[in-house]
Amino acid sequence: FTQLALVLGDQLNAKHSWFQERQNERLFVLLELRQETDYCRHHIQKVVGFFAAMRNFANALVKAGHHVLYLTLDATAHSPSLTTHLEEIISTTGVRELHLQQPDEYRVDKQLQDWQAQQSLAVTWFDSEHFLTERSVLQDWFGDKPSYLMEYFYRRVRKQTGYLMEQGKPLGGKWNFDKENRKTPAQSHQFPPPITFATDVSALVEMLQRHQVKTMGTLNPTQFLWPVSRRQSLEVLDYFITHLLPYFGDYQDAMVQGQWSMYHSRLSFALNTKMVSPRYVVEAALHAWQQYPNKISLNQIEGFIRQIIGWREFVRAVYWQFMPDYQHLNALDHQRPLPDFYWDAKTDMNCLQQSIQQSLDYAYAHHIQRLMVTGNFALLSGCDPAQVDAWYLGIYIDALEWVEMPNTRGMSQFADGGIVATKPYVSSGSYIQKMSNYCDTCSYDVKQKTGPRSCPFNSLYWHFIDRHMEQFDKNPRMALIAKQWQRRDAETKRALLERAEQFLAQLN
Ligand code: FAD
Ligand code: SF4
Repeated sequence: FTQLALVLGDQLNAKHSWFQERQNERLFVLLELRQETDYCRHHIQKVVGFFAAMRNFANALVKAGHHVLYLTLDATAHSPSLTTHLEEIISTTGVRELHLQQPDEYRVDKQLQDWQAQQSLAVTWFDSEHFLTERSVLQDWFGDKPSYLMEYFYRRVRKQTGYLMEQGKPLGGKWNFDKENRKTPAQSHQFPPPITFATDVSALVEMLQRHQVKTMGTLNPTQFLWPVSRRQSLEVLDYFITHLLPYFGDYQDAMVQGQWSMYHSRLSFALNTKMVSPRYVVEAALHAWQQYPNKISLNQIEGFIRQIIGWREFVRAVYWQFMPDYQHLNALDHQRPLPDFYWDAKTDMNCLQQSIQQSLDYAYAHHIQRLMVTGNFALLSGCDPAQVDAWYLGIYIDALEWVEMPNTRGMSQFADGGIVATKPYVSSGSYIQKMSNYCDTCSYDVKQKTGPRSCPFNSLYWHFIDRHMEQFDKNPRMALIAKQWQRRDAETKRALLERAEQFLAQLN
């Protein structure tokens, strides 16, 4: 071989130009590494999902006639480091050229760039051929700014791709149909079951145990639920389009006890590993909508497409615009340790108990559970964004830093001071009650504001506003709520703050 081409665990893109023709002088390398299992404490389903998908990808490459070197954790155990293994392979094979795809995580990008600077070997960088926009897109389109609006970004992507456009105008006369996406399902509503697989991953689990890889959460080793090949990823997409997309937008923000994915696509893992591309997903959904306009309405398709070509591309752009500083931002100076119950779901707040237990069971929670339950609570109680980040980065099967961090530190914790969100996403218990049935069986009373049985979200909400009054007073989107608090009588304020203080004192 003269050429080595490194395929990272989140670069499983069978449609990449690298794989379109066989080259005898090229060796593809895939590595299971301790640096990847250990850079944070991951959910067991996440580690298994990545390794299983990598193994399937390597097998598919071999079947297609490519040369592949796949090293399992057993073979790489003597060093955690990616670059150490690259050096070893380069020296044993004697290759003169290294091909790399741009990593999506700053951590790995920097590691490879720093390493390259010390090499005499010829290194060629390639695009990952996955995203619709460039890393530098915010700078290219809007220049330097302290904050960026997703909505304008999204409109540019719509214009660039022509998705849901008609003669340069948005189809249906509106860019965004979000207001129609706030329905709560009736109690009798029957949700379709999520599509799951039953892949046997016992050998992988046994390997992780042998190497004492520290993980969290649970899994059934003979019934792995997540897609770990392109074929399975396409099955998830097909199931979503046929059974879930017709209601996707309607119930996007709803939370129902016992239902873990409802009408959500569960495509994030397949997308983030690149087993399927955003373009493919969006075009498949658009095709179905064009074929069955009576079944899939414009608000459903627009809502779904916005998540992929809007939010997903936007958060990646924010990440590359603001890293590495972004990872240290803590605009509200929050320092509290994340409560222990985030790791074992042992709490009597039912919304948190359900959302965390579900995350431990399935390595998944949908957007509103992440944002308005676990994220909302961490923000209201003033948790350290670094600890909040570490939890989200570990627990979800789809968590890769480029997408996790702007969502967590930015959108959910407001630690970036408003780069991603124009105001903090916080609410009292009433929002959770409106959007879910969690409060029905909670030991706290969502209607009570103070007293030992009062829903903690109610007093924490005002405690949060009070703590940050100076900052919020100046934020036009928070000023009204800040004024409301200022106008409250002293006794009401005292009782709310006291209840919050008492609650926070016994947290952990
Ligand atoms: P669906 O609801 O079916 O949405 C379709 C797709 O749209 C998703 O698969 C995803 O690719 C994309 N999408 C939707 N919302 C977002 C968003 N805000 N940012 C980026 N892409 C989005 N998503 C991740 O992929 N990885 C993460 O680590 C991650 N961490 C998050 C942390 C917090 C605190 C919050 C609030 C959100 C986070 N998200 C993350 C975004 C979102 O919650 C998940 O993408 C979504 O829940 C995945 O489930 P799904 O595939 O069923 O999504
Ligand atoms: Fe959550 Fe409060 Fe409702 Fe309990 S009452 S489920 S703590 S919002």
